[in-house]
Amino acid sequence: MTLSRRTMIGSTAALTASTLLTQAKTHAADEKTTVNFALVGLGSLSTNQIAPALQKTKHAKLAGIVTGTPEKEKIWADKYSIKSENIYNYENFDKIAANKDIDVVYIVLPNGMHKEFTVRGANAGKHVLCEKPMANSSEDCRAMIEACKKNDRKLAVGYRCQFEPHHLYCRDTVQSGKYGPLHAIEAGFGFKIGDPNQWRLKADLAGGGALMDVGIYALQACRFLTGEEPVAVTAQETKMDPKKFAEVDETITWTMTMPSGVNCYCSTSYAFNGINRFNAYGESGWLGLDPAYSYKGIKGQSKDGPIQFDQIDQFAAEMDAFAQCILEDRQSKVPGEEGLRDLLAIEAIYASIKTGQRTKVQKA
Ligand code: NAD
Repeated sequence: MTLSRRTMIGSTAALTASTLLTQAKTHAADEKTTVNFALVGLGSLSTNQIAPALQKTKHAKLAGIVTGTPEKEKIWADKYSIKSENIYNYENFDKIAANKDIDVVYIVLPNGMHKEFTVRGANAGKHVLCEKPMANSSEDCRAMIEACKKNDRKLAVGYRCQFEPHHLYCRDTVQSGKYGPLHAIEAGFGFKIGDPNQWRLKADLAGGGALMDVGIYALQACRFLTGEEPVAVTAQETKMDPKKFAEVDETITWTMTMPSGVNCYCSTSYAFNGINRFNAYGESGWLGLDPAYSYKGIKGQSKDGPIQFDQIDQFAAEMDAFAQCILEDRQSKVPGEEGLRDLLAIEAIYASIKTGQRTKVQKA
């Protein structure tokens, strides 16, 4: 067969076009728009908040589970169409390394287990989203950050409020200087805890009591609103039920000084319901949220009137944001270092309670 120059050009063009089409198709298939999550620990938060939120996310998908309770496997698999090969328990969890279908492990276990499962997840090549508080100690936080760094995986902490529109508005308004230089913040979160046998009252699993569990929201609010790290703290604890709170703190009040001079007056408790707020006072105005830290119904007031935005699913926002960080290879705005800084302040608060002294917060 003799080929003319014309047919040669024609067939080369056709070949090039078909190669480009194949390449484009492959590229489109490679260009992921969703990130697959496996939930580690299927307790109350996973069941009632996170899994439902994963039905609303745009970039995060519930694809796997890790549970120590075999009965939950079928219930979750049926409800959320989870493939059997994406189901693990705490013993065989490390085999997730070979599972290309899972991108992220979301650690929703008792606090004292966060470090182990974050490190195992990162060593298995997975990105990690870890619930708050990040770990029982700053030392554990550092080990978690290191493990993710070593494995080139992203690490984020479940600080859902940082994605919530009322919180973002308050932060932006305070930092814009609209109400003049900030002088003081008061912040508190607590609730009356029930079952005396739960893990939240055991030191090894919880790392602490009300402060670690919910006081951390008040601490976060102060750090988020000011964008500053506390220099020093003074703290005291009251224990009205020493039997129930034998291992962990019951009620703590503390003050924190920020580098700019802002004073933060904070409280937390496992003994009663009702505190769920922050107020920030500037030289020429004030604002605040109450309730501030609930899953829904966030409401605010300011010198200029109510603060009102649409309620969002904070967990969906947090997971979509982390998924986008992975898709776009960006660092999360709530990285491991953010969890570490909270633990350093918490450690200073516990140290101050012990010594009765004003205590410096260690630097990250
Ligand atoms: P939970 O007690 O309802 O669930 C804990 C899960 O861990 C259960 O499935 C349990 O079976 C499993 N588990 C494994 N080993 C365990 C052990 N040794 N002891 C007890 N449970 C064990 O707790 P939760 O309320 O779902 O909290 C889980 C994590 O999520 C905690 O770190 C908590 O601080 C955090 N949390 C965050 C928010 C938030 O708003 N971001 C809200 C609630 C809880």
